[in-house]
Amino acid sequence: MDGSRIWRFYLLGGMLAVGGYVLLPYGIARDAFYASIGLAGVAASLAAAARLRGAVGLSWALMGLGLLGASTGDLMWLYYDHIAGVDPFPSPADFAYLMQYPFVTAALLLLARHRRAPGARGALLDSAIVTVGLVLPYWVLLIEPNIGGHDSTSTQVVALAYPLADVVLLAGLVRLLAVGGLRTPSFQLITLAMLSLLAGDVVFISLIPGVGEEVSGLPIWDAPFLLSYVVWGAAALHPSAGDLLRASPDGAPVFTTRRLFMLTVVVLLAPGTLAAQLLAGFPLSAWPVTITSALLFVLVVARMGDLLHRLQEQARMLDEVARTDTLTGLPNRRTLDAQLAREYESAERDGTPLSLAILDLDHFKQFNDTRGHQAGDLLLAGAATAWSLTLGGRDMLARYGGEEFVLVMPGRGPDGAERLLAMLRAATPEGQTFSAGLALWDGRERPSDLLHRADLALYAAKGAGRDRVVRAAPPVPPTGSCTDSSPSVRTQ
Ligand code: GH3
Ligand code: MG
Ligand code: MG
Repeated sequence: MDGSRIWRFYLLGGMLAVGGYVLLPYGIARDAFYASIGLAGVAASLAAAARLRGAVGLSWALMGLGLLGASTGDLMWLYYDHIAGVDPFPSPADFAYLMQYPFVTAALLLLARHRRAPGARGALLDSAIVTVGLVLPYWVLLIEPNIGGHDSTSTQVVALAYPLADVVLLAGLVRLLAVGGLRTPSFQLITLAMLSLLAGDVVFISLIPGVGEEVSGLPIWDAPFLLSYVVWGAAALHPSAGDLLRASPDGAPVFTTRRLFMLTVVVLLAPGTLAAQLLAGFPLSAWPVTITSALLFVLVVARMGDLLHRLQEQARMLDEVARTDTLTGLPNRRTLDAQLAREYESAERDGTPLSLAILDLDHFKQFNDTRGHQAGDLLLAGAATAWSLTLGGRDMLARYGGEEFVLVMPGRGPDGAERLLAMLRAATPEGQTFSAGLALWDGRERPSDLLHRADLALYAAKGAGRDRVVRAAPPVPPTGSCTDSSPSVRTQ
């Protein structure tokens, strides 16, 4: 039988066994049957541990050892109750039962550690919020009523140890669920097994002490513990048992509406507890509610801070992406437009010259055709880097499109600009050349007109044989009579 079917048979058989157990009469046979269901879960988990390597194998080993602790407790219980004839509570059996919690919690935290996406600090805060919120009802309903009222100190300690161990297990489970990651069938079965175990504990701690002996001795109360063993074993046998570490394909868990709703409900548990106590006329758990509320406020504010920080970081990254050319890392056309407007303002204010050149690599198509498109990309990026290293502090080089670049040179007149362009020519990699059209702002024309003049000069440079800088003709006066708009050509 292949693994994809074994787990189904195991689960079905286990359910039937639990049903059968509930119908059995009190006696050593019933308790032996109980223990064997537990041991089957232990065997399945330890088999998974032996089969799997790494952190996932270790997690199964920890879970298997935890279940072994509980099963040992079952056998000890059987011994005390039916063979030694003493009350098994409290007894060393409780120690064995309690061993389950640290082992399983360690497995949960190990899984959470490997499943979490990098930088998911928010998930840690979410799990802290949920844990703190859930501890309050645990405290009010299960822990506080258990303080005092026991015959001996050992009974008191053991009676308190269970709900406290539950809180630790719950914290581990919440942490694991909050980090996200792929919820494979095996993962879901483990979660179910743990919820079943916790439900069993809650019933045992809160309901059983209040009912009579005939009711408290009913085997139905054991069903959640038995189901937990069965479901755990099925999780270990499921083919996805080795796939517990897979992080979610979308990376860090997104802040879904469901998560927000859950956090809201959990945060409202504190005032809700107080309201329920007021309405029911119970004594108020003033201090527990105060402490929980204070902790929750701090955690929620920290969560808000985390979200805000991430939002600001994303906004910064988006801004950078929107302003930068991906291939060359240079400012793009959008940034050029904004920067040019600023340079216009300061040139006008300070009365300093402002030159602008459009650079275009020569015969770049040919370079692509002979050396390949990737080599062309490398040349573009290499030229951008080499030219950027040559620039002065106020000069700005932007990628205008394709193999065309715009160089804005505040404070440089035509001679200074040409000197800079000569340095850029010398720095161009791979023995390549460029042509450039250079225009000096006349103090009035719009950026688009300045660019247009530089573009015309570039065409002239290409027409004159490439590998040169051509100065643009001065702008045509709006109402003037000058008609010569052709650029003057200077061969380098
Ligand atoms: P000219 O000297 O007249 O400027 O000739 P040219 O070949 O440089 O100009 P042309 O406009 O004929 O071709 C430009 C080429 O630039 C064509 C296009 O494939 C290439 N190109 C544009 N953008 C990129 C890019 O991002 N990467 C690469 N590898 N090539 C690009
Ligand atoms: Mg070109
Ligand atoms: Mg071109």
